[in-house]
Amino acid sequence: MQYDLDSELVKSWKRIIDYGPRPFGSENLRRCSEYLAEELKKTADRAYVDTDPAEAWEITGWKLEQAEPIRREIKSYVFLNSGASEGFRGTVKYAGKNRIWNMYVWDRYMVLDEEGRICAYVTVRGGEEAIPQMLFQGKSRIPHFLVGEEERNFLEEACRTGAVLEGYAAARWIPGAQCRNVVGHLGQGSRKVVICGHYDTVYATKGAYDNSAGAAVVLELGRRLKKYRLHAEIELLLTDGEEFDLEGARNRYRKCAGQEISMVLNIDGVGRQKILEVWSGPEPFERKIRKILDQSQEEFEAVYICPPPPGSDHAPYYDGGIPVCMLTFNDQGILHSPEDDYRESLIENMEVMTRLSLNLLEQLKVIEKI
Ligand SMILES: [Zn+2]
Repeated sequence: MQYDLDSELVKSWKRIIDYGPRPFGSENLRRCSEYLAEELKKTADRAYVDTDPAEAWEITGWKLEQAEPIRREIKSYVFLNSGASEGFRGTVKYAGKNRIWNMYVWDRYMVLDEEGRICAYVTVRGGEEAIPQMLFQGKSRIPHFLVGEEERNFLEEACRTGAVLEGYAAARWIPGAQCRNVVGHLGQGSRKVVICGHYDTVYATKGAYDNSAGAAVVLELGRRLKKYRLHAEIELLLTDGEEFDLEGARNRYRKCAGQEISMVLNIDGVGRQKILEVWSGPEPFERKIRKILDQSQEEFEAVYICPPPPGSDHAPYYDGGIPVCMLTFNDQGILHSPEDDYRESLIENMEVMTRLSLNLLEQLKVIEKI
């Protein structure tokens, strides 16, 4: 398959990646938002950065190590929204399961200090390597670490042998932080269709696949929609804070309360494989989506999930009763990892994602070729 390395789609994608990791509340993210608004202005009738005050959290350093009987650093990441600790030391005890985003259930261990108080948690990402992930619920004052499958045996043994763990986590709330959604409006109509994709990342990655690629596809849709008649107002929405409990999408949904939104198309992740996950609902809408995708000429294998899991920006809309469809070429191998960086092999799937999205909108009679 041929693809054009100099296309606007690829240029936008590279540009977004080049801003580096873009965690919620960061300077990189702010700079990227300005670029995205400029780019949207080229295709949308109006485009702007829609800001809200935010409680953003920043991690500046951390360490988790085995202290006894031998000293060894353990590869780990700190959960987003985790608490800070200047230093802790203690033994290990199994703490049951940690449920993440209604999607994963991982084993969790606690570190107990000399008085038996919990001074840290360590969760094992089942079957995979360590990555940053959002804390399962709210904020915690205790530091939470995530380690890979390779530490499972050590932790199980540590519970019996009394091995000692040490570590620290430096985290802080960023004063005056903002949530920065980038919004572009195309066309007019009594109903509105939202096409969204997040451009923030977790702190340890540039997020080429998750979701620089999806954000670049949303920009590209803006360009290609010039060749269509629109039967609804289209809101192109590049969200902030998806990785931070969907804060951007939640803010935007709240602001659009009272508008008639007939559907949301969310693009989150354009990875390497040919397996397209389709999270959609409610069921009558899912049947329409499935019928269209089953007739597609593109090369992919669809995996349908209904009702849609809550782990991406469609969730606040779906909870508000709006039909949603989330598309992803999921890529768990590089998700939230520093390895999620530019690679040419993703471009073909970005092209596929763009064509699939246009086809869906056309079949759903949101747009019509001129
Ligand atoms: Zn994502």
